[in-house]
Amino acid sequence: MIKKEIKLENTSPRNDQKHHHSGRPQRKHYPHHHHPKTEEPINSDMLKVIPLAGLGEVGRNMMLLEYKDSILIIDVGFRMPEENMPGIDYIIPDISYLLKDNKYKNIVGVVITHGHYDHIGAIPYIMHRIGNPPIYASPLSRGIIIKRQEEFTTLPKLDINEVKDGSNIKLGPFEVEFFRQNHNIPDNMGLFIKTPVGNVVHTSDFKFDNFPVNEEPTNFEKLKAIGKRGILLLLSDSTGAEEEGHSLSEKEIFANMEKIFEAAKGRIIIATFSSLVNRVQQAITLSEKYGRKVGFIGHSMKSNVEITKKLGYLKSQKGTLLKKVADANKYPDKNITILCTGAQGEESAGLMKVTTGEHPSICIKPGDTIVFSSSVIPGNERTVQMLKDDLLRQKAKVFHYKMMDIHAGGHAQREELKEMIGMMNPKFFMPVHGQFSMLYANAQMAQDECGFKEENVILTDNGKIIDISPEKAFIEKREIPSEYIMVDGLGIGDVGEIVLRDRQMLAEDGIFVIIAVVNRKTGKVQDSPDIISRGFIYLRESKDLLYQTRKKIIQTIEKATASGQVVNWTYVKDNVRNTLGDFLFEKTKRRPMVLPVIIEVG
Ligand SMILES: [Zn+2]
Repeated sequence: MIKKEIKLENTSPRNDQKHHHSGRPQRKHYPHHHHPKTEEPINSDMLKVIPLAGLGEVGRNMMLLEYKDSILIIDVGFRMPEENMPGIDYIIPDISYLLKDNKYKNIVGVVITHGHYDHIGAIPYIMHRIGNPPIYASPLSRGIIIKRQEEFTTLPKLDINEVKDGSNIKLGPFEVEFFRQNHNIPDNMGLFIKTPVGNVVHTSDFKFDNFPVNEEPTNFEKLKAIGKRGILLLLSDSTGAEEEGHSLSEKEIFANMEKIFEAAKGRIIIATFSSLVNRVQQAITLSEKYGRKVGFIGHSMKSNVEITKKLGYLKSQKGTLLKKVADANKYPDKNITILCTGAQGEESAGLMKVTTGEHPSICIKPGDTIVFSSSVIPGNERTVQMLKDDLLRQKAKVFHYKMMDIHAGGHAQREELKEMIGMMNPKFFMPVHGQFSMLYANAQMAQDECGFKEENVILTDNGKIIDISPEKAFIEKREIPSEYIMVDGLGIGDVGEIVLRDRQMLAEDGIFVIIAVVNRKTGKVQDSPDIISRGFIYLRESKDLLYQTRKKIIQTIEKATASGQVVNWTYVKDNVRNTLGDFLFEKTKRRPMVLPVIIEVG
């Protein structure tokens, strides 16, 4: 494991006061919300289903199937950071279970359902640490994975194999058959997995769609045939389980988008997720219909368009796509569409640059129509709101179109979920992919509306081990690590809770550095201690506070040195930190990070 030191002294005087800001999920154990009952394993012939991540959250999907000495991995995704995680880029699954005792050597393969980052995003951070096992992915997923891997030049080459609808791969005791599922990205694969214990079906993210984009409609006959082979366990997408009825067809989503194109008089600027390939395609098709050229802003947008076009998943007429977005300025506004990243208000992404005037060639003009995807990541609402306000001030029209969202419009809703259960008719049902409320809704629906017994519906969380035999399923008492592993620009997993808490504190209340010079012989503080503060309060306007603070520092240090005994400087620093922390809080109601530096002279 790469271990880089990010060294910031932990100086928090409020460690015990702000538990809710910790970067880790504060999951408590509510055993009555988990079923079936927790028991100890009875024999080793059972299939173990191990969700490392992706349950109780939207994103970072990664699940293991383990049978005796063989492990099959399904997806390796990441998720975006939560609110109050300054400087964190992504959160990836905890793979301690695989690293312990070199267990990763038992991995027989990694199967990928589709090319969304919550299913493939952690590949560059995880594969080389688990022995770079072979990956199996559809052509589009494979293309996106390889393209992204190019950005990580020091990593070993991936062993990545192409699979198609109907491909059958034998991996140790598992036989994996891939079948096509509709979603909002092409080339999405459900998995039929033959195991020594019974057949497992993983739905992937899916919806039933009779009018999809650039691919075939749902093949119900094929799904029914899969179900007829006898399914022991169905792992089913839960993202849409709280929504009644049926998801929108891609055709209906297209029709809704078209209304925006019909009404727009000037340029249309669409901020969306680059991996939402269907929306990108729809925007291109509509642009052609309404006589618009299309330009792209944002690294991941350009990169994904390039790869999807090269592989034939993105179709456009000759001359529709602009080589450089700057060329947009050569055409009348009504003939231009711009697709960009940054719908979440990300600081470095396309839309933010365009809005703030930092983009070298595109800035907002009155009459522009801006289309936003709805915000899914908690904590970004305020940024998106400010971005919208800024756009409105610049006299742009702003639309918030929920279907541009990666998690809306792409997932089976209750009618479809029930239909899937009906076709698969599994003995055990396990909701996957989603917040706990989504998993819960899916589980409850299976019991109330599909006739499942409670003990046959597996409602659980990350880090649990579910043992399954042809007769019985139970959750083991032991738990495996399933922490948030945080990736920042510098490394993987080296941003622990302490570093994160320090960053939160710096971001909120600033830093307060004290430099005191102490005479070793006399134990007296020489001169007046230096104080440097950033992001706390403006010190020049707080002369009185500064005076009192210095007095407090001198008192605290000299109290410790007064005895003439050997001084424990660590203890003295802790003491200064705590005393000053409390003092500053009392005076300002803020808790900056206090960093005492004591220099001995003489
Ligand atoms: Zn997806």
